[in-house]
Amino acid sequence: MDILTINGVSKRFGGLKALDDVNLKVKEGTVHAIIGPNGAGKSTLLNTLVGRIVPDEGTVEFNGAPLLGHNPYEINQAGIARVFQTPETFAELTVMENVMIPAFARKDGAFKINLWGRANDRRVVLEEAEEILEDLNLAAQRHQRVDSMSRGDKRRLELAMCLVQRPKLLLLDEPTAGMSRADTNNTVDLLKAIAKRGITKVIIEHDMHVVFSLASTVSVMAQGTVIAEGTPEAIKADPRVQEAYLGGAHL
Ligand code: ADP
Ligand code: MG
Repeated sequence: MDILTINGVSKRFGGLKALDDVNLKVKEGTVHAIIGPNGAGKSTLLNTLVGRIVPDEGTVEFNGAPLLGHNPYEINQAGIARVFQTPETFAELTVMENVMIPAFARKDGAFKINLWGRANDRRVVLEEAEEILEDLNLAAQRHQRVDSMSRGDKRRLELAMCLVQRPKLLLLDEPTAGMSRADTNNTVDLLKAIAKRGITKVIIEHDMHVVFSLASTVSVMAQGTVIAEGTPEAIKADPRVQEAYLGGAHL
């Protein structure tokens, strides 16, 4: 089943067609990578999926319902979470406090809870948050203030803040951008550690090692449109991809 269907989406910025008839489907439970050169429209596409940009044309269906026209808050409550390139956390609060805010803000039908909910419900939320902090190597820092943490720690915390929302779809825009090889490998391990949660992921990634370690499907964007799609192996061997993406160099 497709959890996300993007049909004929276009977006113009003045004279520039940032998105030009994008068609893309994401299967539920998969990790779907989007690669492509700088300026291809990858981030613009993610921005349309979270309601930050409204396309000029096209439709998007998420989990069987139309997505376009909803605001970012509504889209988040419908089950789409996004990891930003610069982590967005509450600097003056602790790790645990940061994680509790989105956990208790969540109000999906399957698990309605609020601060005044039953103690048992609150315990479930806390246990789940603890487990997520363990998976992301943040448990030892649970009482640390965020403004005393490294950028890498904040990135992991932001991921934890997404996971406690139990999203149906997680969007990651270049999660390893600017990282050393060691930190990149670490991030891959963490994303593998959270794979057991079965959350569908769309990941924009420039690092081919990351793409090949995580994704089962790869879409290649160039000049605002999807020029190829397939398994990582097929994409690697596709001469059109070599040409568009790396000017003929080998992936
Ligand atoms: P990518 O993420 O693939 O590198 P982007 O989606 O960020 O590409 O950008 C696609 C094109 O759209 C680029 O030429 C970029 O300069 C342009 N663009 C993106 N956002 C805006 C905006 N808000 N206003 C004007 N142009 C934009
Ligand atoms: Mg981008």
